[in-house]
Amino acid sequence: MVTVDRFGSGTEGSQRGGAPEHAASAEKRFDFSGGELCLDFCNTLNGSRARPKELLLAYPDLVSWARQAGIVGDFEARALVETAHQHPTESTKALFHAKALREAIFRLFSNSIDGAAPEPADLAILNVTLGRALSHRRLSITHQGFAWEWRRDDEALDTMLWPVVQSAADLLVSPKASRVRRCGGTDCDWLFMDMSRNQSRRWCDMSGCGNRAKARRYYARKKTGR
Ligand SMILES: [Zn+2]
Repeated sequence: MVTVDRFGSGTEGSQRGGAPEHAASAEKRFDFSGGELCLDFCNTLNGSRARPKELLLAYPDLVSWARQAGIVGDFEARALVETAHQHPTESTKALFHAKALREAIFRLFSNSIDGAAPEPADLAILNVTLGRALSHRRLSITHQGFAWEWRRDDEALDTMLWPVVQSAADLLVSPKASRVRRCGGTDCDWLFMDMSRNQSRRWCDMSGCGNRAKARRYYARKKTGR
């Protein structure tokens, strides 16, 4: 199966930022406010890394995330869940690998934010996945000219990780990497792109973490009478 890439070619998919209207109501809804695919993937874990609240509890959650991100279509999503159902050991492995990759990407950016050196083990996880992803990268001819695409393998349960790892590698080598931030909220380690003019954004979301921080400051001032 061949799917034209929505990310590597530099044009973002229209589905990004929300699930299609016909999505099943029981499906988990994911947030896509990170500003880059790889950061949105890191944000599939709520809470802090010390007190995590995992959102990817089972393989179908990973497929839901990928579908909502616009990197797999509805048909492919159903096929992946069906394949996973037939191969439970493989799907457990794929989910385990997805979370290991996610945490490696998180630590690479997080260490960079803290001015710490990257862990070689994290880079190794990224490079192994990148090697596999790139073996599925193809150039195709479209009406608009050449385009990157992913040559899908119907049996590959890790297909959604290929654009994720490419996004992480592209961002790590880009000058934009200096704009990656980690939320300053208590119990929130979400990563996001700070595209503000003076690069002073501190929270993943002003209405959530930002408001809670403001409220804490307000009560602290009130308590000390300042
Ligand atoms: Zn936050």
